[in-house]
Amino acid sequence: MTTIKLHNSKTRKKEVFIPIDPDNVQMYVCGPTVYDRAHLGNARPVVVFDVLFRLLRHVYGDAHVTYARNFTDVDDKINARAAESGREIGEITAETTQWFLDDMGALGALEPTHMPRATQYIPQMIAMIEDLIARGHAYAAEGHVLFAVDSWREGYGQLSGRSVDDMIAGARVEVAPYKKNPMDFVLWKPSDAEQPGWDSPWGRGRPGWHIECSAMSHDLLGESFDIHGGGNDLMFPHHENEIAQSCCANPEGEFARYWLHNEMLQVEGKKMSKSLGNFFTVRDLLEQGIPGEVVRFVFLQTHYRKPMDWTEKKAREAEKALERWSVYGLDHSGRQPDNEVIAALADDLNTPKAIARLYQLEKERDFDGLVASLDFLGVSTMNFALQMRGLNTRLYQTIDGVLLLSLKAKLVDARNSAMETKDFAEVDRLKSAYTEAGLEVRMSKTGVELVPGTGFDAAKLEGLE
Ligand code: AMP
Ligand code: ZN
Repeated sequence: MTTIKLHNSKTRKKEVFIPIDPDNVQMYVCGPTVYDRAHLGNARPVVVFDVLFRLLRHVYGDAHVTYARNFTDVDDKINARAAESGREIGEITAETTQWFLDDMGALGALEPTHMPRATQYIPQMIAMIEDLIARGHAYAAEGHVLFAVDSWREGYGQLSGRSVDDMIAGARVEVAPYKKNPMDFVLWKPSDAEQPGWDSPWGRGRPGWHIECSAMSHDLLGESFDIHGGGNDLMFPHHENEIAQSCCANPEGEFARYWLHNEMLQVEGKKMSKSLGNFFTVRDLLEQGIPGEVVRFVFLQTHYRKPMDWTEKKAREAEKALERWSVYGLDHSGRQPDNEVIAALADDLNTPKAIARLYQLEKERDFDGLVASLDFLGVSTMNFALQMRGLNTRLYQTIDGVLLLSLKAKLVDARNSAMETKDFAEVDRLKSAYTEAGLEVRMSKTGVELVPGTGFDAAKLEGLE
C-alpha cells in the first residue's frame, strides 16, 4: 500500500499518515459562507482537498473514505446581504450553495460525502454548548454564551503556537462587558426580531461561527477523526476555537489528528482585493472562456503550502499543454495513473512534482499514462475538449475544436503505427484528405499540428474513415 505523508500543522512536521480505521478514513474541511459567488481564492482549498480526497480514495478504496465539508448558511454577512437586497435569507443561501457546487464542479472537484448546512444542526450545537457549560468550559451572560479560555489554558493556542497571554497582548479584541476574559469567544448570541434565530435555553438566538464545525464533525465523523483542513487564514481563531470546543466537550476523543492548511492565492503578485480591481470569481473566468480544467491545472502547479499566484501567462501556458494532451484523451481506456505521479502526491501532495512528471510522460510518449494521470488529478481532457467546442476561445475561433482534436488524434495514431510497421500509406491518405479540406498539416518530431486555412471546409471531411 502507498504510504502517504502529510505535513501536520499541529506538530509542524511531515508525518506518515496512519488512519484510525483504514476501512473508514475521515476528513473534515471548512467550507464557504454562502452569500455570494466564490472568488478564485475560495477555490484553492476546494481543489487542494479534492486532490487529497482522490488520493485517499485511490489508496484506501472509494468506499472507505468519508469527506465532510460544511456550508455556513447562518452568518451576519448573509443577514446583511438579505437586508440590502430585500431578498429572503433562505433564497440567497440556496442559490449561492448551488452556484458554489456548479463552479467547483467546473473545476473538477468531486462532491464530498457529506455537505452539512449549519442551519440543519442547530439542536446539535445547542446540545454541545449545554455540555460545555455543564463541564465548566462556558458561561451564559446577557443572552450570550461564551467559551471560557481560562478553563482550558493548557490546550488553547497550541495549534497556532501562541499562549492566551500573548494573544491578549497582541490582539485587538473586542472587549465586551459580558466577557470574563477578552479572549473568550461567542458560542451563542441573541437575535433581534429581524435576525434569524432559534429558541434556546438562553433565549432566541443564533450560533457563533465556530461551534458549527465542532457540532457537525462530531455528528458526522465522531469525536476522533483523521484529517481536518482549511485555509491558513482559518488557523486562528477559527480552528483554535474548534479544537477548544471539541476537546472540552469530548475529552475522551482526540478531535482531528492531522491538520492541513493551504496558503493563500494572489493575483499577478498582489493580494486579491476589490480595491485593487483584481478581484474576480471562478464564474468570471469560466465566462471569459477559460475552461475549469485550465484553472485547476494552474492551481496544481503550486504546492498547497506555498502562496500561489494566479497569472494570465500561467493560464495561457496551461491551456496550450491541455490542448496538446487532449488529443490523446479521446480514446483513452481506463489506464492506471502513473506511479511517479501517485508517489509525488503521497509526499505531502507534491502537485508541482506530479505536473512535472506529466511533461516527462509526454516526452516519453506514454500518452495513456499521461491522460490517466491527468484524470486522476481531476483534469479531464475529455471535458476540456468538449468545452473547447462549446466556447468560442482564442484557440478555436472558427472551427469545431473537437473535430480538429479528433482529426489530430487519428493522424497521430496512424503515425505511431507507421513508425512500427514502416508503412506510411494510411498517414499519407489522411494527410491528403486533410489538405484537400483546407487544413495545413505540419508534422515534426515533436508532434502534429493542424492549421485551418481560410478555405477550410469541415464538411469535406465528413464520413472520413
Ligand atoms: P470565506 O468565504 O472568507 O470564509 O472563505 C472560505 C474559504 O476560502 C476558507 O477556507 C478560506 O481559507 C479560503 N480563502 C479565502 N480567501 C482565500 C485566498 N485568497 N486564497 C486561498 N484561500 C482563500
Ligand atoms: Zn470550520
